[in-house]
Amino acid sequence: MLEIKVTTTDTPKPKPAGPVQGVGQIFTDHMFLMDYTRGTGWHDPRIVPYCNLSLPPSAMVFHYAQEMFEGMKAYKHPNGTAYLFRPEENAKRLNRTAGRLCIPQIPEADYLQAIRTLVTLDADWISCEPNASLYIRPFLIATEPNLSIGVSTSFLFVVILSPSGLFYMDDLTTLDIWVEEKQVRAVCGGVGDTKTGGNYAASLAAQEKAQSKGYAQVLWLDAIEHRYVEEVGSMNIFFKLDGTIITPALTGSILPGITRDSVMTLCRSWGYPVEERLITIDEVLAAQKNGILEEVFGTGTAAVISPVGKLHVQGEDIIVADGNTGPLSKKLFDTLSGIQRGTVEDTFNWRVKL
Ligand SMILES: *Cc1c(COP(=O)(O)O)cnc(C)c1O
Repeated sequence: MLEIKVTTTDTPKPKPAGPVQGVGQIFTDHMFLMDYTRGTGWHDPRIVPYCNLSLPPSAMVFHYAQEMFEGMKAYKHPNGTAYLFRPEENAKRLNRTAGRLCIPQIPEADYLQAIRTLVTLDADWISCEPNASLYIRPFLIATEPNLSIGVSTSFLFVVILSPSGLFYMDDLTTLDIWVEEKQVRAVCGGVGDTKTGGNYAASLAAQEKAQSKGYAQVLWLDAIEHRYVEEVGSMNIFFKLDGTIITPALTGSILPGITRDSVMTLCRSWGYPVEERLITIDEVLAAQKNGILEEVFGTGTAAVISPVGKLHVQGEDIIVADGNTGPLSKKLFDTLSGIQRGTVEDTFNWRVKL
C-alpha cells in the first residue's frame, strides 16, 4: 500500500458547463506524482493541485525521450457510481512498456491505488452527459539532469485527468483513411508495441500529409515490405471479410490495444470467426473488388469504435460499406460503450468499481 499524501486545492476550477468535445484540453483540480531514485526506489507518492512541473533543462526526457504513457477512462453509471474498464490490463501494459524502455516498473497494486485515489478525489469531474467520461493519462519521464546517453537514475510518475466528451455528435461518423505507402511508424524489434511518445513523433509527418489531403488518419503498413496492414494512428484496425473478423497479428510493431482484445472477445462470443493474422493491403483491395469487404473499423479507448468509410490506397479511393457505419461496428460500439457506462450487462467482468 502506498501512503499517499493528499494536498487539495483551495481554488477549485469551474467544471465544464455543457458537453465537452474531444479530450485533452481541460484538466481536473488534482494530479498524482511519485518520484523514483535509483537505490531508493519509488517514493513520495502524493496528490497535489494540478500545476506546472519544474524540471532542469538537462532532464534526460527532453533529449533522449526516455518516457512512456498510458490511457484509460473512468465512466459514471446511471446510478452515479464511477467505474474503470479493465484497469489491470492497463497496469500490465504499463509495466511491459516500462520493461522495454528501461523505466522502473510500478507494482500493479500501487499503480491502481494511485489511479483510484486520484479519480475518487476528482470524481465530480466525471460528467453524466451521454458519452462523457474522464480520460486518465498516466506517464513516466526520465528526470536525471545529464546529457550523457544512458538509463536515467531518476524518474517522475504523473497521472493527470481530462474530462472527455463526444467524439461523434450523433451516430458513429465514418473516418476517411490515408494508407501510407512510404513512411513507416515502427519496425519489429523496435518500440512500436509500447506506448511511448517517439512512436507518435515519427507519425506526425504522414499524419499532416494525410490531413492536408482531406483524410482524418493514417493507416500504417509494415516497415519492410510496405504490404502488411499494421494499425491506424492511436487505434488498432479490424476488417470484416465475408463474415470473418480479421485483425493484424501482434508481430511486435503493433500496440496491443485493450479495446482490440475486448472486441475480439465480443465477436467470438457472438459466433463470428475471428482471425489474428497477417493481412496485406492487396488482400483488402481484392476483397473490396470481389464485394466481400463488409466493414473496416478502428478500435481504441478514445473513440471505442471508429468505422472507416473510405481508404486511400495506391492513388485510389476505396469506399467501404457504401461509406456508412456497418451493423457490426454499430453493435460493437453500443455493446462496449454500454458495458463501460453500465447500461449493458458486464458478462466478462471488465468493469471495476472505483
Ligand atoms: C493506445 C493505442 C492503441 C489503442 O489501445 P487501447 O488500449 O485500445 O486504447 C492503439 N494503437 C496505438 C499506437 C496506441 O498508442
